[in-house]
Amino acid sequence: MTGPDPFDQLDRELDAWLSAGLTATLWWRDDDAGEMSSGLDRLIALSERHGVVCGLATVPAWVADALAERLKDATSIEVLQHGYAHVNHAPRGQGLGAWELGLHRPLEIVMAELTNGREMLCAKISGGILPVVAAPWNHIDPALFEPMVEAGFVGVSAADARPKPYPVPGLLQVNGHCDPIKWKGGARFKGAEKSVRDMVEHLTARRLGEADRTEPTGLLTHHRDTDGACWRFLDALMARTRAHGAAQWLAPSEIWT
Ligand SMILES: [Zn+2]
Repeated sequence: MTGPDPFDQLDRELDAWLSAGLTATLWWRDDDAGEMSSGLDRLIALSERHGVVCGLATVPAWVADALAERLKDATSIEVLQHGYAHVNHAPRGQGLGAWELGLHRPLEIVMAELTNGREMLCAKISGGILPVVAAPWNHIDPALFEPMVEAGFVGVSAADARPKPYPVPGLLQVNGHCDPIKWKGGARFKGAEKSVRDMVEHLTARRLGEADRTEPTGLLTHHRDTDGACWRFLDALMARTRAHGAAQWLAPSEIWT
């Protein structure tokens, strides 16, 4: 006996996009890169197997030589900047979660870290680095947006449906919408059905015009916290979406051109 196919709801939603003559754009961001690991090897193999380019949100202060070396011939990986050192500077107990890119420190210091971080990434990793900040813990204060544009950044990524494409002129926001990990009480796979549902919810909202139709639906993974069941889910998700005529995976460099 097998249960219901968790991907059926996704197929039905994509069928609706196809009937409407629309293309359901998708993209993939993976967070917390710095060291090489078996998880990162698995991620690179997955992206190559399905031809889906991954935006690897890399922490500048964590970049190890082995990662830089491995990325030299990983053509399916593009690097985004995951903050600076992935350190929380928000006081605990305020219920607002962890923030590296908030105004808990002077803005000049946060911006200096971002610009230094970009230089560190460019110095250590050869090619394929986009001037796009994927915010640690998906938290970033909007007061940083204009200084980021002045510093040469062209994009930002956090979580959930974006309020608008450009929070300030010159900075395109594209978020993650489907995170297959349940974080509370220890990271673990939340299951195929719930993960697919998150993706379908954003796709449906886009199709119906309840969310910005032009924002690609983002799969947001964390290779360090991904278990076997979750890797198998990701493999199946990519196979199913690649096989559907309405779905199109975009590389980050196609989003932030
Ligand atoms: Zn992170």
